Amino acid sequence: MVHGQFFFALVNPIVALLFSLGFALIWLRWRDYKHLPVLSAGFLCLGLGFIFYDFHILVWPEGINVGANILYVATITLACSSTFLRKNQSPPTLLFLAVIVSGALPFTWYLLVEPSILARILITSAIFAGVTSITFVGLVRQKDRTLPDNLFAAGIALAFFIAILRPTLVLTGLLDIESAGGFTASDYWTSIRAFTPIMALIVATLFIVAIGLDIVDHLKGQADRDYLTGLLNRRGFETMGDEAVVRDFANSRQPAMLVADIDDFKKVNDTFGHKVGDVVIVAVARTLAKHGEAVLAARTGGEEFALYYNDIDRVELQGIARKIRAALAQTPITGLPSDYPVTLSIGLHLSYSHESLSDMMTLADQALYRAKSEGKDQAVMTPVRLHLAAGSRLQTQDQA
Ligand code: GH3
Ligand code: MG
Ligand code: MG
Repeated sequence: MVHGQFFFALVNPIVALLFSLGFALIWLRWRDYKHLPVLSAGFLCLGLGFIFYDFHILVWPEGINVGANILYVATITLACSSTFLRKNQSPPTLLFLAVIVSGALPFTWYLLVEPSILARILITSAIFAGVTSITFVGLVRQKDRTLPDNLFAAGIALAFFIAILRPTLVLTGLLDIESAGGFTASDYWTSIRAFTPIMALIVATLFIVAIGLDIVDHLKGQADRDYLTGLLNRRGFETMGDEAVVRDFANSRQPAMLVADIDDFKKVNDTFGHKVGDVVIVAVARTLAKHGEAVLAARTGGEEFALYYNDIDRVELQGIARKIRAALAQTPITGLPSDYPVTLSIGLHLSYSHESLSDMMTLADQALYRAKSEGKDQAVMTPVRLHLAAGSRLQTQDQA
């Protein structure tokens, strides 16, 4: 082995193993990211594959590196599986296995019975193409893809492209698999040696950037969430709500707001303690999340909540308020006597003019105030406003 070759022989596995270590280290700090240990295992296989390849471990008599081939298939399969795990989906393991086994059988045939380099190249490429294309289709079928999702998909697409590029070049005669110096001196072999590490590096870099973006999104999401209930907090509601209002008016949708405040909550705290008070807040939050049918749901203050709707009419909104109050009445709360009434006062507002989120909240709050002053445990809707001309408004009374 000449110097340069020896250098590359060392660099490739070291880079792959460092990526493996990097994914593992990130996972140690972010145990929720179940895809990271799988990705780490994938790059471990890649590093070992490079070592097997470069140092001729487990080599078949005629120069076929069986061990490295198996490790590369494991790399692709693990990397592909990790992209499903990242989205909390189970990877199509059976489908992957079916592709691998249906490739391994003819591969063995063309290795032992009827030796053919071309056939084996085509089969290996078909396995890679099969696993990556299944994964790519799975990824692009996911709805609401974000930038990191697209980066993962791009990494997989790149792997698929390489998987079909090489056999295409071989079949069209652009890449030689035979040469005077034998297979290992051929263009094909040289291209594998040159491109596999570069490709692996590009894919790994895409994954790393995507993981970084995932972590940033996660942290930003935490800053926008209420720790007790998991709903949005006021900051998150205002940020996302402001964007939603603009978007929904632009799409001629009907935005609406529901604000809710727990009745006589101070008494719950005073009688049963702050901890039970917290349990009540969580129970109300769950009820609102489950029965509220809202686009955005937030805990905007101590025992105050807000729900945002983007396509709803007055009757539907009143129906939802009724359902929420009925569901809460049926919800048993740990620490409270079963007959203890936990009720909500609710303010409802449908926005007909181009109001801001904060305008909508103020108006919904006014309705809530009326619900409180008229005896609590009820929902009140703001009056319908008919625009006659700029500045003049006709008001009608409307109560839910
Ligand atoms: P009303 O029917 O008029 O809404 O009366 P209220 O007692 O529900 O309203 P008030 O605003 O007087 O009291 C709200 C109480 O909520 C006061 C505060 O101590 C309590 N609170 C605010 N945040 C939390 C919290 O996170 N946990 C608990 N347990 N209590 C909280
Ligand atoms: Mg309050
Ligand atoms: Mg209250």
